[in-house]
Amino acid sequence: MTQSNTADALLLPTEMESAIRSAIHTAERILCVSHVSPDGDAIGSLLGMGWILRHVGKQPTLALADKPARDFDYIPGYDSIVGADQVKDAYDLIICLDASSQDRMGDIYRPAAHSQIPLLVIDHHITNTNFGSLNWVQPKCAAVCQMLVYLADALGAPLEGNLAIALLTGLITDTLGFRTSNTDAAVLQAAMRLTAGGASIHQIVARTLNSRTFSGMRLWGGVLSEAKLEGRVIWATVSQAQRKAARAQDSDGEGLSGFLISAQEADISATFIERTDRAGETVVECSFRAKPGFDVSEVALGYGGGGHPPAAGCTLAGDLQTVAADVVAALRQARQTQAGKQQRERQLARREELLANG
Ligand code: 5GP
Ligand code: MN
Repeated sequence: MTQSNTADALLLPTEMESAIRSAIHTAERILCVSHVSPDGDAIGSLLGMGWILRHVGKQPTLALADKPARDFDYIPGYDSIVGADQVKDAYDLIICLDASSQDRMGDIYRPAAHSQIPLLVIDHHITNTNFGSLNWVQPKCAAVCQMLVYLADALGAPLEGNLAIALLTGLITDTLGFRTSNTDAAVLQAAMRLTAGGASIHQIVARTLNSRTFSGMRLWGGVLSEAKLEGRVIWATVSQAQRKAARAQDSDGEGLSGFLISAQEADISATFIERTDRAGETVVECSFRAKPGFDVSEVALGYGGGGHPPAAGCTLAGDLQTVAADVVAALRQARQTQAGKQQRERQLARREELLANG
């Protein structure tokens, strides 16, 4: 049953639909991959793509460079996700989900072995670098899981059961429970169809947005007490020592920048989390959020990262405090420029209104 309407047709144009359909139908060995430090949309879209492909008779390999958090083990197929050690050299098609650039696939994508294989990129980041041989990039969609609702329609996969649970997960986590500024009628319509197909909003919220560890709370307590606010930019750092002292898990810093942006006194928030990468180097994971009207994706892109105007990030090598100081300076500069532009636009609008009213 296809329930596509005009909005869906705009989000998945006919030519793109047939290109994707033919890429999938002609491939036997398919590798699906999403981004490092996978979130709900990464895991939901990876597992959702798996269910869509199985519906059309394929047996895909689903891979992630980093182990998905156990919080997501309620999604059917969770245990089938493999790490880099089980990824082969030869595939007919690689499908990359929710990643704005090639490096975001981490160790799963090895250019030496994989660069000749057709690469289908399905993503919703405005900063996407179009690194695939076929790129379906739709920044109007709030989650890649929303895009997969339209792809499921196109391939005739019913939005029910396992697929519905996987896709509703990404819609809920990327919109923070349908609260972000990009939550429009199309998002709600997609969620409504997945709910009608048997997925439960409250069960998914209970396992994701409403679930924290005690160690995470203790970490947040310490970190929040040292948060700083300068020029309407609020920010906090999380050192490895702080994480160790709180016995925090890897995922315990997630959501912190989303919490900081709720400060009335701030337009932009940032968190800086110190980690050791696979090569043993100290890196700083930077996570940014912006209030409506402000844009953090450009600053993230400038540092080699990416994201959306209201939520973006990057990963930088170097000392925690030095990185934080540099990046906060760039964010303050961006905020000031954007606030100035907003003020000029408001003045212009007021002048035009006065003129129109004689
Ligand atoms: P979060 O702050 O929740 O980790 O990420 C917010 C957004 O920024 C997500 O859309 C995520 O994909 C993007 N993002 C976060 N960190 C990085 C990064 O290191 N590189 C890129 N390209 N995007 C990132
Ligand atoms: Mn996403």
